[in-house]
This record gives sequence, C-alpha cells and structure tokens, in this order.
Amino acid sequence: MTSKTPATYVIPPPPVSALPVRGTDALFPVRRIYCVGRNYAAHAVEMGHDPDKEAPFFFQKNPDSLVLDGTFPYPVASSDVHHEVELVVALHRGGKAIPVESALDHVYGYAVGIDMTRRDLQAEAKKAGRPWEVAKAFEHSAPCGPLVQAAEIGHPDAGAITLSVNGELCQSGDLNQLIWKVPEVIAHLSALFTLAPGDLIFTGTPAGVGPVQRGDLLEAKVSGVGELRTAVA
Ligand code: MN
Repeated sequence: MTSKTPATYVIPPPPVSALPVRGTDALFPVRRIYCVGRNYAAHAVEMGHDPDKEAPFFFQKNPDSLVLDGTFPYPVASSDVHHEVELVVALHRGGKAIPVESALDHVYGYAVGIDMTRRDLQAEAKKAGRPWEVAKAFEHSAPCGPLVQAAEIGHPDAGAITLSVNGELCQSGDLNQLIWKVPEVIAHLSALFTLAPGDLIFTGTPAGVGPVQRGDLLEAKVSGVGELRTAVA
C-alpha cells in the first residue's frame, strides 16, 4: 500500500447498501450485519438445544444480502428455507469492549428483519461441524424494513414480535423473552469485534420458525418498531 490515493478503481466500486429511515429522506449506510443465534429459549428448544443461558454466539450476513423491495426470491440449492423474524439494531457509534451500561448510547435505531435460512444446508453444516455461511449468508437472505430512530421510539425491551404466513400466525414471542438483551448483545459482540457506525445486529428469533413456499406472503411485526411485508417469489 502507498499513501497515494488512487485516481480510479480498476473495476467500479460496489454500491453502498443502505436502509431508509422513517421520517427522513436520508439513508443509513450498512457496514456489517451481525446475527445472534438462539436468543429466545423457546426457539432454542424447538431447534433441539438446551435453553439454559450460554454465552451468546454470532454469525454474519453480508450488507448486499439486504432485501428492501419486499420480494424474497426463493434461493437456489435448498428445498427447506425458513423464516426467522427478528428485531434489528442499527449502530451509529462503534467501539470495542463497550460496557452494558452505556451500550444503548451506540444505537441509532431499530427495524423489523427476517433472517432467512436455508435450514437443510444449516443442518448439514451443523452435522459436519462446518461454518454456516451457505445457510445464512446467501443473496437476499436479509429482508429488512425501514429504520425507526431511537430518538423517536426509545429502546424497546418488551412487546410482541410476530410473523404470519398468508395470514396465519406462525411465530409469536415478546422482546422481553430475549435471553441476551440488546445492551448485553452489544457488550458481548464488541468484545469480539470492533464495532463501527453502520453495523446492524439481528438479535435472534422467537419460536415458530418454519418453511416458506413460492407465493407466500410473510408479514413480520415488532411492536413499536413496525411491520415488514415480504413476498416469496
Ligand atoms: Mn436468526
């Protein structure tokens, strides 16, 4: 590397992924997407795990996997794709080793997201002791609604989180059932990674995950944050 700034790129730079922000025309640029695994006890149980409080664990999706237009194209290489409705946290301040007590100062806002998962590929990966990327970080795997600012709604720590498929309620939980609360998630994550403005955190899903089919309409809601409608194409 030299200190000289290149005049041009050899290929066009990739576009910046960004989320709309309710009440403003400005966009929130996304740097990284972190996700928390098994953060509601009832979901841990339905996936065959002990619901006891173990240290949180994380995986990532890519910013260009965000879906903002309400259409989720059924992915290749899977015949068992699951919905996971999640509260999404957006950071406007970064850091490492962030204390729980001041963690919420780093939060810009919240959104409703769906952690789409190729469950069959995840099961194979788990069985083989392999990483989860093929199950979690595929294209279009992160439908997400607009951000709402914490300055407007505060920091939700209770309230319904639900997902319906074609009008039938499938997932139903409450934010107060999060095993690791948002400030604790930020504290743990910042002990592993240097967080930065633009990072999103998908905070985990309540019980009731299940497969989607082409033609389904997914309606995800988080009380106080909003709704996200996604059509499976
Ligand atoms: Mn998830």
